[in-house]
This record gives sequence, structure tokens and C-alpha cells, in this order.
Amino acid sequence: MVDQSGGQKLIISERKGFTFFQFEQLLLPRLDHLVTNRFFPFDLTQLEGKNKLAEILNTDEIIFPRQVHGSNLRLVDRASLSWGRGANFFADGLLTAEKRLYLGILVADCFPLLFFDPEKQALSVVHAGWRGIWQGIHLKTLGKMQLFFGSTPSSLIVGIGPGIGKCCFEVRQEVKEYFEQVPARANYIFPVSQNQWKVDLPGILVRELVEAGVRRGQIEIFPACTSCHTQTFYSFRKEGPKAKRFALVAALQ
Ligand SMILES: [Zn+2]
Repeated sequence: MVDQSGGQKLIISERKGFTFFQFEQLLLPRLDHLVTNRFFPFDLTQLEGKNKLAEILNTDEIIFPRQVHGSNLRLVDRASLSWGRGANFFADGLLTAEKRLYLGILVADCFPLLFFDPEKQALSVVHAGWRGIWQGIHLKTLGKMQLFFGSTPSSLIVGIGPGIGKCCFEVRQEVKEYFEQVPARANYIFPVSQNQWKVDLPGILVRELVEAGVRRGQIEIFPACTSCHTQTFYSFRKEGPKAKRFALVAALQ
């Protein structure tokens, strides 16, 4: 099923009776990936929810990091499974070239990013909140994929999952000034009132990925703002600390 909203295609798929989303350009035989949503009835912040998702994916091999809103990425392989699903190691992005090893990250307004290199058969999943984007976690991912797998940015296919859009991401002066430290980012900041601004995070992601060599046509953006669509996703901004999380999970096949 394909929803053509906003000119971007949103693929809705079903697995074992549950509804998930997928990136159209990443529906490839050598990659499996899913974005969960509010219709997934288990709490992914709890081990039980992660176990349930693993069951639906038909795998015992799934890794989630403990996310800290930083920009550290970690290379993982099958041996890393001994760290467990309890997220007892710190990272905001995971990379692997290991087949059938599922990598997952959790979000609610922050952007879930999926980088796939079909040439080198490698992938990364990344949790990109405003702090991570400010620190350039998306560019660090390109650097690490080059270092570990020999990936060139122009070969990558990148999915930018559902996160908070420029319609809703309001920031105070301090955060605006962080972003202005990189002059080109000023084009993605819009005044709302005297001391409130809106920042277009997906705009910054796309521009900087393209500048670093990723092909614009190989970047797919989910056409939904999490804060505008709390019927489908979770939003920390809209719902506060009670907001649950949805996941992006992916594995090489
Ligand atoms: Zn919005």
C-alpha cells in the first residue's frame, strides 16, 4: 500500500498482523527494515517490548544501544549480542556489516536514520536528535562507514524517518545560537517571535548529506511530523515525559 502524501511515498506493510512503515527506496532483497508506530501495542522502552519485536522479525539477534543524545557511533557484530537487549552500552548510532543482525534505535521526535551501502553490504542506524544533528552525527556516520567498510557517500541510500518537522520544532535563543555556529545552517532557522525560533532539522540533514556527497535522489524522507501526527507516532514535545518510543530496526540479508 502506498500513500502519496507530500510527494514522498510512504510504504505501509504488515507483518504477523502488525502494521509497520518502510522506505520505498530501501525495499531491497539484501536489506530488511521496519519503522514501528503507535499501532504496535508493546512498550519498546521495556525488554518485553523488544523481545516481542524480535519475535515478529523472526530473529534472536537484535541490538539496541542506550541512547544519550550524543554523536557516538559503535561498530557491532554478532559478538555484541552478549551485551543483551537491555541497552547497557552507550551509543546513538550502530554500524555493521554482519548479515541478519538487527540493529535498532528508539525515537519520539528525534529522527531515526538508516544508511545502507548496497556495494559494500553495510548499514548504520542512527538516533539523530537536535543535539546529535548539531554535533553532526549524520556526517560522522558517513566518516565511520568510509573507515570501517570503504563506503563512498554517493553509493549510499539514506532513509530519514519520522521526526519533528519545522512546523513544530520551536527552540529558544540558546539552541538557535548553537545551530548558527555553522553559518549555512542559518538558512534553516525561522523566527516565530522575539525569543522563539523554528529549526528545520530534516532540511539541515539533507543539505549537509548532499554536500558531503550523498545523492539527493538517494535520500528518502518520511512525509510526517511526529508532533503533528501523534495518532500515528509518539512525540516527546507534544506528549511530555509519558511519551513512549517507536523504533527503526534494520538488518542486512
Ligand atoms: Zn509538525
